[in-house]
Amino acid sequence: MSTPKRIAVIGVGSMGSQAMWRLAARGAEVIGYDRYAPGHDRGAAGGETRIFRAAHLGEPGYIPLLRLADQLWDRLQEESGRELRRRTGCLVMGATESPSIRTLLSSSDAHGLDHEVLDRAALARRYPQHRLPEGHTAVLDREGGIIRPELSVQTAAGRAELLGARLRRYTPVREIVPAPRGGVDIVTDEGTDHVDTAVVTAGPWINTLLPDLPRVVDIRRLISSWHVPTTHDWFAGGAPAFVRSTPHHCYGLPSPDGLSVKIGLSRARHLPVADPLRLDRTVDPAELAVFRELIGELMPDLNPDPVRLSVYMEGYTDSEHPLVGHLPGQDDIVVLAGFSGSGFKMSPAMGEIAADLALEGTTGQPIGFLAPAALGTP
Ligand SMILES: Cc1cc2nc3c(=O)[nH]c(=O)nc-3n(C[C@H](O)[C@H](O)[C@H](O)COP(=O)(O)OP(=O)(O)OC[C@H]3O[C@@H](n4cnc5c(N)ncnc54)[C@H](O)[C@@H]3O)c2cc1C
Repeated sequence: MSTPKRIAVIGVGSMGSQAMWRLAARGAEVIGYDRYAPGHDRGAAGGETRIFRAAHLGEPGYIPLLRLADQLWDRLQEESGRELRRRTGCLVMGATESPSIRTLLSSSDAHGLDHEVLDRAALARRYPQHRLPEGHTAVLDREGGIIRPELSVQTAAGRAELLGARLRRYTPVREIVPAPRGGVDIVTDEGTDHVDTAVVTAGPWINTLLPDLPRVVDIRRLISSWHVPTTHDWFAGGAPAFVRSTPHHCYGLPSPDGLSVKIGLSRARHLPVADPLRLDRTVDPAELAVFRELIGELMPDLNPDPVRLSVYMEGYTDSEHPLVGHLPGQDDIVVLAGFSGSGFKMSPAMGEIAADLALEGTTGQPIGFLAPAALGTP
């Protein structure tokens, strides 16, 4: 019997917990490191809910990856017996003639995704909590829904541990050093571990962990704002998540407890983060004006005064495609970074791809458009 490959997963958040699960399931010897503990709320994975969509607004190349993620979400739920995802559906609303709605409809048709087009009148009947301007359309992605991020991260990491993986909680990795004899040395305050391959999934801390790489991942500060409905029952009709592109680019998720609706904004509204170790978590009242405005216009039955505000971080690339692959010139270091505000739904697929790259050196999944060439040449 051959010796199992020894793989380090650095950052056990959204992507790292799934990478640990898939690697451990495939027989690798896995060591995970996190500067905190799985399920914490200081990076990209906090705030109770994430949108799952089967369809994609921009790049049809994501659809096979979302299919794989869909199957793996089901598998993780079955293995753990936990409800990680609820298929509430996801409403996507935008100008009927916009490229995003056109792409969404054409790729949904081409891939046979279960969806329904609702005009203004149909939307008003079915989901009266949403106002749709003239010339706009709503598309209900019936395979969409909500995922519980903290529970998912803990569940994937927990499954990996049950399968034999080791997890070093509260252990920040200080350095990843290619070893002269092959493989990689992982340096922490407690010592150095030698592994065959390192999978780097440090999320918004990618530039802190790998300071010598070109800064192609831009770290941003995201506000999530929770609002209580005033009149309409937001939770009737299946309470789908929603994404809106015009006149305000925003998204929202009715809370699984049925008490409030979480709203988030698009990248253009997110302030840069100079140092992810010193994230400013206070929200200035001036930052709430945009929430007040869009609620008044698009969802007037929500109280615009938030009942909860939280601040998170996420890494964005210019193209908004994540960087997934071997670090240029480093066959023993796999990086997954820059998920640009939409990575959570894909995280189990990313875990499987990380396992392919770490164990086989390549993947059969169609990720050519996600290659991390921008991180530099050897
Ligand atoms: C507010 C918000 C809303 C979002 N909404 C959605 C949505 O609805 N749907 C969707 O699909 N996506 C959504 N996203 C995007 C998605 O959540 C992210 O793309 C995803 O969480 C990124 O995962 P990650 O593993 O890269 O980062 P993280 O989940 O933050 O994980 C990084 C981990 O690395 C650890 N770490 C960092 N440095 C070190 C080190 N030196 N040593 C050890 N450990 C380290 C951190 O502690 C952390 O646990 C949203 C993001 C945010 C912030």
